[in-house]
Amino acid sequence: MADKPKLALYWASSCGGCEIAVLGLHEKILDVAAAFDIVFWPCVIDIKYADVEAMAPGSIDVCLFNGAIRNDENARMAHILREKSKVLIAFGACACGGAIPGLANFSSREEMFEWIYFQSPTTENAARVFPQRHTRVDEGELELPAFWNTVKSLSQVVPVDYYLPGCPPEVQSIELAVQALVTGELPPSGAVIGLNIAVCDECPRERKDKKIKRFYRPQEIIPNPDECLLDQGLYCAGVATRAGCNARCPQVGIGCRGCYGPLDGVYDHGARLLSAIASIIDADTAEDVEAVLETLPDPAGYFYRYYLPQSLLRRKARENGQKKSAAEKKPAAAVAD
Ligand code: SF4
Ligand code: SF4
Ligand code: SF4
Repeated sequence: MADKPKLALYWASSCGGCEIAVLGLHEKILDVAAAFDIVFWPCVIDIKYADVEAMAPGSIDVCLFNGAIRNDENARMAHILREKSKVLIAFGACACGGAIPGLANFSSREEMFEWIYFQSPTTENAARVFPQRHTRVDEGELELPAFWNTVKSLSQVVPVDYYLPGCPPEVQSIELAVQALVTGELPPSGAVIGLNIAVCDECPRERKDKKIKRFYRPQEIIPNPDECLLDQGLYCAGVATRAGCNARCPQVGIGCRGCYGPLDGVYDHGARLLSAIASIIDADTAEDVEAVLETLPDPAGYFYRYYLPQSLLRRKARENGQKKSAAEKKPAAAVAD
C-alpha cells in the first residue's frame, strides 16, 4: 500500500480551541486518520521538538498551524514547520490574523507585565518576582522563550500557503479543507480556503435600510428574532466579514464579531468594518457622531478583535522612543533576549 501523506498539527500562542475544533470533527476524524499519517501533534501524540527537527525538509505534506506568534519559541517552530512542510496552512483566526492574543498589541510588554505580575487586584507580589529568561537551579539552567512586545500572524513570520479562518474554524470549514487536501483540488496558493461572501449573505435575518441612532449592549435589549441585529442597534460585523460559519452568532441573537476575517481584496479588516459601520450611522454633525460612538464601548476591540496584528495599524504606537526588542528584530533567533 502506498504511503499516506503526512500531516502535522501544531499550536503556537493559542487557547487550544483550534485543536478542540479538529476533534469536533467527531467520527470524521477517522477519515483524517485514514487519509493521513499524523507525524506531529504535540497536543495528542507523544512527540518532541527534536523529532520534528530531525525530519527531512519537505517530508511533512500538510501542516495545520494554529495560534499567533508571540514569543521566539512560536517563531522557531514556525520556521521549522515551514521548512519541513510542503503545504503550511494558517489554521484559525490567531494564525491568520493574530486574533485574541493579538489584542495585546494595544499594550506594550512592559505594561502587560506590570499589570499581570504587580498591579492586578488579585496579585500580591511585594518582592516583585516575575519571569526571567534564564534561572539557575541545582539541576542546571532553566530557560523561557523571549516574550515579544508585538504579536504577529503566522504569515508575518514565514510564508503561508493557505488560510483557514475562524475562531475556531467551524467543522464544515475544516471538512472543506480536508476534502481539498485529500482530492488535491486546492485553490491558488495564498488563498483562503472557503467562501468569498459576507456573513450577511448566509444570515436569515431580514435586513432593511440601516440607520443607527445608538448602539445597544446585548444585555440591554431583547432583539427581534427575525430582524437584522444591526438594524436593531446591536453591533454586528457580518456586513464585512467572510462567511463560512453559517452566520452562527447572529442565528442565536449575538452580533458577529468578525472571526472569519476580511473578504478577498480587503487588507485591513478593522478599517473595512469601521467604514461599513460609519456609513449607516444616522448623524449630521460631529457631535451627533460622537454621541453615537459613545454608545459603542471599546470600538478598537470591536473593529480589530481578530485582525489587529495583520492590519495596517499592527499595534499601538510605541511611546517615548521605545525601541524594538532584539527578539522582534530577529524573530528567527531562538534565544534572543
Ligand atoms: S483562533 Fe480562536 S479557538 Fe483558535 S487558538 Fe485562536 S482564540 Fe483559540
Ligand atoms: S444580523 Fe448581522 S449578519 Fe445578519 S444580516 Fe444583520 S448585519 Fe448581517
Ligand atoms: S458569526 Fe462572525 S464571529 Fe460568529 S462564528 Fe461567524 S464569523 Fe465568527
